[in-house]
Amino acid sequence: MKHPVIDILEDLVRIQSVNPHYGDGANGEMELSRYIERFFRRIGLPVRRQPVAEGRDNLIVELRTGHPDSVLLYEAHMDTVSLGSMERPLVPAIRDGRLFGRGACDTKGSLAAMMYAMEQCARYPELLRCDLVLCASVDEEHAFTGLLKFLELDMPISAAVVGEPTELKIVASHKGCVRFAVRTFGKSAHSSVPHEGENAIVSMAKIVQYLQEKMTPELGRLSDALCGPATLSIGTIRGGKQINIVPESCVIEVDRRIVPGENPHRVLADIEEELQGWCAAQGIKCAIEPLLLDWALHTPPGNPLVRRARDAASALGLNSGVFGETYGSNASKLQGIKGIPSIVYGPGSIAQAHSREEWVAVSDVERATEFYMELARTFR
Ligand SMILES: [Zn+2]
Repeated sequence: MKHPVIDILEDLVRIQSVNPHYGDGANGEMELSRYIERFFRRIGLPVRRQPVAEGRDNLIVELRTGHPDSVLLYEAHMDTVSLGSMERPLVPAIRDGRLFGRGACDTKGSLAAMMYAMEQCARYPELLRCDLVLCASVDEEHAFTGLLKFLELDMPISAAVVGEPTELKIVASHKGCVRFAVRTFGKSAHSSVPHEGENAIVSMAKIVQYLQEKMTPELGRLSDALCGPATLSIGTIRGGKQINIVPESCVIEVDRRIVPGENPHRVLADIEEELQGWCAAQGIKCAIEPLLLDWALHTPPGNPLVRRARDAASALGLNSGVFGETYGSNASKLQGIKGIPSIVYGPGSIAQAHSREEWVAVSDVERATEFYMELARTFR
């Protein structure tokens, strides 16, 4: 017999909620948020919308049980990446115990499990020793504006669980990132008299070499026991207009992954200072522009949330270890910006997220439901 959480998940997958950042044909999160709103209104829980952008609202559901000093937040994003070349991405299909569909794994499996868990908790609120809040957020797959807007509410929250595919592992730390562009400025000239110009591409080549050979090796020293070392990757390069003009501009985009303990703003400032100093000595004119700054997550193993999560996993016979990851999530914003102890937990594997064959194991979704219910009942 099919578990009711799977019915919810199938409904979520049927509703296209591609992040508008991915272009034409993306519906955004509105229709999905209406489904979730109806779901909770039907069982009498208060639901509120928080506008984030035109036609894009976070949805916040509260289960108040008389414990305002102990508030557990469940958070999962509603948006997905583009439908891509997936076959029938909006038609949930179960084969060999796997549910296929865009978003099934990232992160509608977690969202469905959290919704079902909250519905069950709402039936017996007297069993809870905490208030439970669910935030279904927008825009995680692009710029996290949904979660950042949610933080502006300054709701009292004691601890948070962010639903993302962790293979039902308790992820208490993960990396963050600092993405920035570096632009070099030259002087254009006809290519027949290149000495009359300054070649921005040649300058950039020196910077690329510096980043790769000087800055990158030093990052090995910044290593986290659970997440591994800090890294740096140069992802794009653009420069020059045509072959017979000395280029006056060249831009690269760099992705520096930070480890727990690093502050993204500080990391960017340090990179800027070091690079500008080196460029000045080389006679290179450059500018650095921040693109995206994201905190790393580090919730200490001794934190009560981690302990309760481990107990809940143990009680259910699930993996009760504590893990680190290389990718980011909304958890790091909750912790980095507001100091809210947070973990990431959900069904499915990151390997199946964003992929052409996105799926989640049905049994994982069911077990995640049990975990979210058990944690809600034991958190205080
Ligand atoms: Zn996700």
